[in-house]
Amino acid sequence: MTHATRVTAPRGGSTTETRILVMVGAPGAGKGTQSQRLAARLGLPSVSTGDLFRAALRDDSPLGRSVRPYIERGSLVPDEITVQVIADRLTQPDAAAGIILDGFPRTRAQAAALDELCAERRMSVLAALYIDVELEELVARLGGRQVCGAPESHSFHPRGNPPRVAGRCDVDGTALHEREDDKPATVRARLREQLAPMYEVVDHYNGTGALCTIAGDQPIDEVTRELVRAVERRSARA
Ligand code: AMP
Repeated sequence: MTHATRVTAPRGGSTTETRILVMVGAPGAGKGTQSQRLAARLGLPSVSTGDLFRAALRDDSPLGRSVRPYIERGSLVPDEITVQVIADRLTQPDAAAGIILDGFPRTRAQAAALDELCAERRMSVLAALYIDVELEELVARLGGRQVCGAPESHSFHPRGNPPRVAGRCDVDGTALHEREDDKPATVRARLREQLAPMYEVVDHYNGTGALCTIAGDQPIDEVTRELVRAVERRSARA
């Protein structure tokens, strides 16, 4: 990767509008890995609600205590908690030019809440990038996934995305471990509970015209290339 693609400002409009990229995909589709790659390419922060919740769990903050039961059983955290976390995050200065949302919205109600936040502030959803991966492939990927201890949890898998040194993160060298909610019983619960609302989110952005679908069963670099191309197309059209 040799150059950074810029998310261009809206044509004829103010340069201060926040352009939001939404990553949509089932657990295991590669949202986290791809949004970190997109963040580097586009020069935008990538924010994962899962990472924000895991940090709150580690700190045992009031937010952590309220979300713990949902995360431990693989359920979605209630919309009002999740929307508030994102609303707060969007006000931070590093989000002024744009932001990549990894794992939000995850329900139709969250998508509608994000539309409302956009209407109230100078923000718009430039693209909803849907990484489409078949169910059997998701199950295979979640079993065996390994993440590091960094707040943004870099993720690896023996199939397709192995670390250069076994058991060590390529990015920061910390030890890799299996996520508690990647254990087989929780994986099945997460997929069972999270797929139906995800399809509603896909449907929502299909309706608004922001949806870009990318086949997620390709090599990682190809998925990144297609995502960048999709953002460039949307950016040129906006
Ligand atoms: P992730 O790292 O994206 O797989 O998220 C880990 C867990 O955090 C999920 O299984 C949910 O329990 C919770 N979570 C993350 N994002 C959301 C969201 N947008 N809405 C509700 N729960 C979420």
